[in-house]
Amino acid sequence: MTAEFVIVGQGLAGTALAWALLKRNARVRVFDREAGNRASRVAAGLLTPITGKRLADSWRWGELFPAARAFYRERETELGRSFFREAPAVRLFQSEAERERWRGALCGVPVGFRAPLGAFEMPAARLDVCAYLDASREAFRAQGIYERYDFDPGAPLPGATVVFCTGFAPREDPWFGDLAWNAAKGEILTVRVPDLREERVIHFGGWLAPVGEHLYRLGATYTWNPLDTHPTPEARAELEAKLRAVLSVPFEVVGRDAAVRPVIDAGKPALGTHPRNARVAFFNGLGSKGSLLAPFFAELLAAHLCDGGPLDPEVDVRRWLPVRAG
Ligand SMILES: Cc1cc2nc3c(=O)[nH]c(=O)nc-3n(C[C@H](O)[C@H](O)[C@H](O)COP(=O)(O)OP(=O)(O)OC[C@H]3O[C@@H](n4cnc5c(N)ncnc54)[C@H](O)[C@@H]3O)c2cc1C
Repeated sequence: MTAEFVIVGQGLAGTALAWALLKRNARVRVFDREAGNRASRVAAGLLTPITGKRLADSWRWGELFPAARAFYRERETELGRSFFREAPAVRLFQSEAERERWRGALCGVPVGFRAPLGAFEMPAARLDVCAYLDASREAFRAQGIYERYDFDPGAPLPGATVVFCTGFAPREDPWFGDLAWNAAKGEILTVRVPDLREERVIHFGGWLAPVGEHLYRLGATYTWNPLDTHPTPEARAELEAKLRAVLSVPFEVVGRDAAVRPVIDAGKPALGTHPRNARVAFFNGLGSKGSLLAPFFAELLAAHLCDGGPLDPEVDVRRWLPVRAG
C-alpha cells in the first residue's frame, strides 16, 4: 500500500488524526519511536470545563467537548473497549470569591477531605489515555498501518504528506524545529489512600483522580527549567503538601511520573501545512488539554488536508513560524 499520509507520532495528536484520515478513506501510515516518557503516556486524561487557579472557563469548551465525547464514544464502539467516562468532578473552594461565583452549584464536602469554604460539583469527563492509545495502536497494527519506527525528520521526505505529531520535540525537524515553544514540564504522583472511597476527581488547586484499588493520581506541577522527564524531590514535596492541606486521612506515595506538555501558545493548538512545502504538516501544541483538543482539531486538519477545508487562522501553525527573508 502506498501511503498518502505518514503520521509521525502516535500520542493523542497523531492517534486522533489517524482516525480522522481513515474515516475519509485516506491511506495512512503511523510511526512511533515508542521511547521516553511522552506526555500522552503520563497524562491523567481529565476533561474539565473550569480550570486553573482563576477557575477560568476552558477555551472553546462548548464546541470542543461535544466533539471529544462523540469521537471517544465512536472509538469505544469501534474498538469494543471502554476508556471514556463522564462523571461529575468536585472543586474544593480556595477562596470566598470562588464560593461566591459558584454558589449555585454547591455540594457537600467529599468524605475524607477538609474544605472550610465548601465545594461545588461540575460536569466533567475522563479519558484513560493509555487504554485508548493502546487499543488504537492494536487496531492500526491489525490493519498493517502501524510501525515502531524512529523517523528521521532530516531525511529526504517520502512520497507522501508527512504530518509531524511529535509532541515536544524542539529543533528535531528542519521544518517546524524553530518554532518558539512555551513547553512546561509536569509531574504526577501515584498515591495510595487506604481510607478513601471517593470515585470522583477532586480539584483543590491540584487534583486527585481515582484509578482503582485505593490508588489515585495526584497532579500536577508546572515548571519550565529544565524541560526533562525526571521526577524531582521538589515536585513531590509540592504535591504532597497540597494534598496534605485538604486530605484528612493518611496517604503514601507509590509512584512518580514526569513529562513535558507541548505548549506553544497558551494552550492553543498549532496545525496545518508548512508555508514552503504543502507535503509537510504539523499537529501539535495540545498543551495541558490534549484529550479535549485532539478530536476537534484532528477533524479540522483532516478536512483541510483531504478536502482543502479552511483552517481556522487562530490555530494555523504559520502564525508561529518565524518569517524568513527571501
Ligand atoms: C503531568 C501531565 C499531566 C497532564 N494531564 C492531562 C490531563 O489531565 N488531561 C489532558 O487532556 N491532558 C493532560 N496533559 C497534556 C497531554 O499529555 C498533552 O496535551 C498530550 O499528551 C500531547 O499529545 P501529543 O500527541 O501532541 O504529544 P506526545 O504525547 O508527546 O506524543 C508524541 C509522540 O511522537 C513520538 N515521536 C516523537 N518524535 C518521533 C520521531 N522522530 N519518530 C517517531 N515517533 C516520534 C513520541 O514517541 C510520542 O509518542 C498532561 C500532561 C502532563 C505532562
